[in-house]
Amino acid sequence: MKLPEEQRKKGRGLRKCRVCGTSRGLIRSYDLFICRRCFREVARDVGFEKYQ
Ligand SMILES: [Zn+2]
Repeated sequence: MKLPEEQRKKGRGLRKCRVCGTSRGLIRSYDLFICRRCFREVARDVGFEKYQ
């Protein structure tokens, strides 16, 4: 496993989904730290409806 340099941005170990706590399929693009599954649900509230 390689640790991406981006991790240095937030080196707090916040690499888990804030909703379900998984570390798989995390989306860091928006600094949301939410996995893909939860993101699709949250996206509806946040307004990322375009994202699929
Ligand atoms: Zn999740």
